[in-house]
Amino acid sequence: MLTIGLTGGIGSGKSTVAGILGEFGAPILDADKIAHTTYAPGGPAYDAVVAAFGADIVAPDRTIDRKKLGSIVFGNPEQLDRLTSIVWPATSESIRRNVAELRASGVKMPIVVEAAILIEANWQPLFDEIWLVRASREQVVGRIERQRGLKPAETEARIRAQLPDEQRAKHASLVIENNGSLDELRDLLKSAWSDALKRNG
Ligand code: ADP
Repeated sequence: MLTIGLTGGIGSGKSTVAGILGEFGAPILDADKIAHTTYAPGGPAYDAVVAAFGADIVAPDRTIDRKKLGSIVFGNPEQLDRLTSIVWPATSESIRRNVAELRASGVKMPIVVEAAILIEANWQPLFDEIWLVRASREQVVGRIERQRGLKPAETEARIRAQLPDEQRAKHASLVIENNGSLDELRDLLKSAWSDALKRNG
């Protein structure tokens, strides 16, 4: 039974792909959401994050104030490293547990985990296959402008701050080129999913 890691850069179409695979019946896990649960009160990374960044980041309701945490780590690679060295391993463990729970509850379908930072976090060992969603710079800039109103220069800056697709592609067993219409993407995924079901056994 396959566990598939789905990754790609900003605006490549990861969430769109995850949505379509979900329609095909795939259970979908979102690594970003799982990461947030690790530093929610009672979560496995909560105490370590508070110890590393101080009580100032704790809101009156005991949750970690993500804006305050963001203002500490944004643009500060050393602090960002400190945060990711706590949160990424905890998230990896939570993903593993979530997948195991789905399997224990009888799920036999390939499980898809959407994880933008899959390669950066070195989560490759969690997955049987890694699928990379890729789109041209022009497509990404246009889509992000329409989706979030970001100016092309802002999107370009975010793309530059990310791992390049050439690096991601080295780890991918399947590259989904998302430069066409949504219908084309759906057709491509239909065939990729039917092949995955065969490999899934
Ligand atoms: P990611 O999760 O990789 O950041 P999204 O799936 O959110 O990317 O896609 C970014 C935007 O582009 C969304 O508004 C989405 O609806 C749109 N989009 C994605 N793929 C296509 C496509 N093939 N055709 C048109 N719009 C698309």
